Amino acid sequence: MNVCKKCHKVYDEKSQFCEECGETLVQNTADVFQCDKCYKLFIDSEFCPNDGQQLKIYKRNLESNQIEIRNVEQYTVQIATEPMLLNMDEFINCEPSYTGADSNDFMTYLNENMFHDIESFIDINESNLEDSTKDILWNLEDHPNGEDVIYDSRNKYGNMWHELGKTNPDFRKNGGFETYETTNND
Ligand SMILES: [Zn+2]
Ligand SMILES: [Zn+2]
Repeated sequence: MNVCKKCHKVYDEKSQFCEECGETLVQNTADVFQCDKCYKLFIDSEFCPNDGQQLKIYKRNLESNQIEIRNVEQYTVQIATEPMLLNMDEFINCEPSYTGADSNDFMTYLNENMFHDIESFIDINESNLEDSTKDILWNLEDHPNGEDVIYDSRNKYGNMWHELGKTNPDFRKNGGFETYETTNND
């Protein structure tokens, strides 16, 4: 990375002059920070000059005796729609016909004939299904609302661990952090 020492902006290796002030860029040796709002990178700044947003660490240049530590917590949240009423007999007249006897058979039928393509199932059975049933089937395409939480593992037990490592934007899926050591045994 190259940087402008005057306006603290960060550029790639190919850039030679600051687009803002024309200053000659120099090779970066400082910690780099990122704005959450405009995603721009800066050095030696606490707040984004564009929008005032507080900057977050993006890449830190560590001495050999320095390391970063963070807490990580993983949890499970389950969300669900309200239960919707279905009449299994209605599917006897559908194409293909439902011929099962219990919930297990019905789930197999839905799995094999509907879940993978609800729209086609409704099209084919346009005249075989009640309007209210068709509405329910359409609703099965949607995700439940994020607020409709039926289970949150944080209410039962905490699952937190500690990690040693280094801020590194290449590890995006790990929150921009390269983990060297962890107390998580999973
Ligand atoms: Zn500049
Ligand atoms: Zn910004």
